[in-house]
Amino acid sequence: MAFPFGEAAEVIQRLERAGYLAYAVGGAVRDFLLGRPVHDVDIATSARPDEVCQFFNKTIPIGMQHGTVAVLHKGKIFEVTTFRSEQGYDDFRHPNQVHFERTLDRDLMRRDFTMNALAMDLSGQIIDQFGGQSDMRTKIVRMVGNPEERINEDPLRMLRGMRFVAELGFTLGSDEREAFTRHASLLEKLSMERVDQEMTRLLAGPNAVQAIGLLYETHCIEHLPLQKKGQREAFNAIHFDMLQSEAERWSVFLAVLGYDQLDAFAGRWKWSGARKKAVKKLLRVLDERRRQSWSRWMVYKVLPETAYAVERVRTAIGEETLAQADETCQLITGLWNACSIHSTKELAVDGRDFLYWSGRKGGPWLASVLEDAERAVVCGHLANERSSIEQWFSAWQKEQKMPF
Ligand code: ATP
Ligand code: MG
Repeated sequence: MAFPFGEAAEVIQRLERAGYLAYAVGGAVRDFLLGRPVHDVDIATSARPDEVCQFFNKTIPIGMQHGTVAVLHKGKIFEVTTFRSEQGYDDFRHPNQVHFERTLDRDLMRRDFTMNALAMDLSGQIIDQFGGQSDMRTKIVRMVGNPEERINEDPLRMLRGMRFVAELGFTLGSDEREAFTRHASLLEKLSMERVDQEMTRLLAGPNAVQAIGLLYETHCIEHLPLQKKGQREAFNAIHFDMLQSEAERWSVFLAVLGYDQLDAFAGRWKWSGARKKAVKKLLRVLDERRRQSWSRWMVYKVLPETAYAVERVRTAIGEETLAQADETCQLITGLWNACSIHSTKELAVDGRDFLYWSGRKGGPWLASVLEDAERAVVCGHLANERSSIEQWFSAWQKEQKMPF
C-alpha cells in the first residue's frame, strides 16, 4: 500500500534520513483504514524533542517534557512525538513524567485502544501489535492490555471509549464494559476540561444515543457532575443527528435530563462564556416556544438563526415532526421577512428623541417606550418615521398615565 499521508511523508523521510525511526500513528492511521476523513497526521519517532527541533526550520515546542514538538511543514502542522512509555496520570489530571524510548513497541503499548495503537511506515506497511485491524473489522472498541489497569492509569479512557462508540458506531468490548462499570467512580477525579471535551464530542457522534446508553449501563452517568441524571429510556428516541452545533446538542442533552437552570452547571463544567450564553439562550427560547407559537416580534427578538435552531431542538426531542418543523421554519422566514425593520439601529428614532419630546429625565420609562415603539414598528402597527412616532408617543404617554 502506498503511504497515503502526503506531506507527512516528507517529515518522516527527513527523520529517517537522519537515522531515526518515524511512523504515522494513532487516529490518522485508524481513520484512513476506516475510510474516514483524516484531519491531522501525528508522527511518532525515536528522535528526542531537541533532536526533532534540529532537523526542521519551523518548530513549536508544544509539550517538550512529554515529547511533543509541532513541526510546520509546507503550511501544515504535524505533531511529532518521541516514542514514550507510560502516560499514566497519578493525580488523574496531569500526565506523569514520561520515559522516552527508542522503539515503537513501547510507544504503542501506552495507547488506549487497539484501533489507536496502529502505526504506518513510509512503505505503507501497518504495524498492528494488538489486533486493531481485526477489532475494526468486527467494530469493537477494545483496550490495549488489561482494561482495569488502563482505566486506573487514566479514567478518561472510559469517556474516550464511549466517545468512539458514538463517533464510529462500534460496540464496546465486554471486558471493557465490565471494567467501566467497576471503575465508573474514577471519573470524579478527572479535570472538567477533559471530561467536557470528550462529552462534547460524544454528543456530536452519529451514534450518540448508543453511547449515552452505555453511560447509563456502566453507571458512568452517576459519576459525572449532573444534578439531574434523567432516564436512559428518555434518550432512545432523541435525534442528535439533526442538530447543527455544540450548543444545540448540549441544549438537547440538558433538556432531556430536565435542566432549566444552567448557571451552576456551566460553572461546574467550566464552560466558556460563549457556550454558556448560547445554550442558555436556546433553552430560554425553547421554553418560550413551548408556551406559544412564533410571532413576528419573537422572531425579531431572537433572530431567525436561533428560531431555526430551536425548531431543530424541538424536532430532535420529538416535540414536533420533521414535516411540522419544516412548516414552522417557513413560517419563521415569513415572519422575519414581514418585519418592517430588522434591528434596533434601523428605528427612525432613539432615546434622545423621546427625552426631547417629553422634556423628562431618563428612567425605566425610556427603555419601555423604546421597546413599545420598536414592537409597534416591527409588527407594522406604526410607520417607521419620526412624525408618526412622535404622534404615537403622545398617545403612549396618555395611555401610560405618565405625569408629563
Ligand atoms: P481524534 O483526533 O479523532 O480525536 P485520535 O485517536 O487522534 O482521534 P487524539 O486525542 O488526537 O485522538 O490522540 C492521538 C492518539 O494518542 C490516540 O490515537 C491514542 O493512540 C493516543 N491517546 C490519546 N489520548 C490517550 C489517552 N488518554 N490514553 C492513551 N492513549 C491516548
Ligand atoms: Mg487526533
